[in-house]
Amino acid sequence: MEIITSVTTMQRWSRAVHRQGQTVAFVPTMGYLHEGHLALIRAAQTAGDEVVVSLFVNPAQFGPQEDFAHYPRDRARDEALCRDADVAACFIPATEEMYAPDHQIYMEEPAAARLLEGAHRPGHFRGVLTVVAKLFGAVQPDVAVFGEKDAQQLWLVEKLVADLNFPVRIMAHPTVREPDGLAMSSRNKYLQPAQRERATCLYRALQVAAQKVAAGETRAAVVLESMQPVLATVPEARIDYVALVDPGTFRPLEQEVSTPCRAVLAVRIGSTRLIDTMLLSAGNET
Ligand code: AMP
Repeated sequence: MEIITSVTTMQRWSRAVHRQGQTVAFVPTMGYLHEGHLALIRAAQTAGDEVVVSLFVNPAQFGPQEDFAHYPRDRARDEALCRDADVAACFIPATEEMYAPDHQIYMEEPAAARLLEGAHRPGHFRGVLTVVAKLFGAVQPDVAVFGEKDAQQLWLVEKLVADLNFPVRIMAHPTVREPDGLAMSSRNKYLQPAQRERATCLYRALQVAAQKVAAGETRAAVVLESMQPVLATVPEARIDYVALVDPGTFRPLEQEVSTPCRAVLAVRIGSTRLIDTMLLSAGNET
């Protein structure tokens, strides 16, 4: 496995793959890999010839009060996991390699990036869209795999690629969960054992909403209200938002729910902020 730290080396490596008539499949990550990331890597291996994984904690997507400095990092373990997973190259740029002192160009967020996650994390998607564009420029992938767990991010990356004509196919991967339903996340490490147990409230609330919609409920307010008692069982849970969105536009649905619709929520348990999502379908849809 190649370890690549410079943008120009990454570009050269990718060009060499393409010259041989092969394709590059890309999995961008912030490292501290878990089974969710590994599932994305396996999906990438089915979608392209050579898989590149990036390990880069992007400062531009963290707010000043957020956990950039404390975000978990374990480069040696990440490299070993990638090697075991038969990854062809790991792209691990230093912060200064991605953001030179004279770096000036950033993406402008569309309205959909200022709702939900964007409303609670101002500037987050400006940083995400900027780094995704930069990573695509460095890795030059034919296909890139993103997790549905970060559903708003996935929607925005699909829009980025469509609106700015990036020659990259975006592949969505379903959320990988712990056996009790908690969505895997590098941030789960922050949870104390008792909090870890209660953190399943996000998944349980989503399941209740899914049952409501499957049973034919179409009033958004009723679906959203059905989730509240589940979240209320965890006294330390602080809800940032719970919403139903149109999967096509990511616009919140406030009246009638057309299905499938997507439930999204962000909840802080102690100082750990967790997000989760589920596609909700009426009974006979898949
Ligand atoms: P991160 O390292 O958290 O930035 O995530 C890197 C990629 O992995 C993103 O596309 C995430 O959506 C995806 N991802 C993270 N956790 C999961 C999960 N539990 N299931 C599926 N994809 C995930």
